[in-house]
Amino acid sequence: MDFAREIRVIEDFPKAGVSFKDITTLLKNGRAYHAAVEALVQAIAPWRPELIVGPEARGFLLAAPLAYALGLGFVPVRKAGKLPAATVAQTYALEYGFDTLEVHADAVRQGQRVVVVDDLLATGGTMWATANLLRKVGAEVAGMGFLIELTFLKGRDKLSDYPVFSLVQYD
Ligand code: 5GP
Repeated sequence: MDFAREIRVIEDFPKAGVSFKDITTLLKNGRAYHAAVEALVQAIAPWRPELIVGPEARGFLLAAPLAYALGLGFVPVRKAGKLPAATVAQTYALEYGFDTLEVHADAVRQGQRVVVVDDLLATGGTMWATANLLRKVGAEVAGMGFLIELTFLKGRDKLSDYPVFSLVQYD
């Protein structure tokens, strides 16, 4: 399937100069959504994950069905203040300012192999912070999967410690 055809590109969103990749068009097409999750399953299964992690919010839309398809558990990574139990935090740089991601301190077992899935790899900041969080709580990050990669932003360079897979690339 030509997944790029299912993704809508919105120019100048959320601000001038940004070419936003809108995945809602892919998600509402049952065949495309199913095929995208299946393709991610095929790429990720060889990494032998024991748990699937997704950063909020669009990461949930791929990580949760992937976990379900593989018969694995799902762990959410959320913005600061959203998770109810004891958390571990990781702050990371945005274009302007900082943001903080959190995961429950007891979300993974020591040495558990986790694969992180998000909708899109841009600068890699979100995924770098997520991987750091997971290492802090004792996980072994076995790989990272994305629906979309903006190759010109070279996010992979920031993630060179990990195997990275993406289904659709924009350059
Ligand atoms: P990064 O941290 O790699 O710079 O940015 C990736 C994060 O920003 C992802 O969690 C993703 O959801 C969001 N993001 C940035 N640009 C886009 C875009 O064009 N489309 C979508 N769907 N998400 C984006």
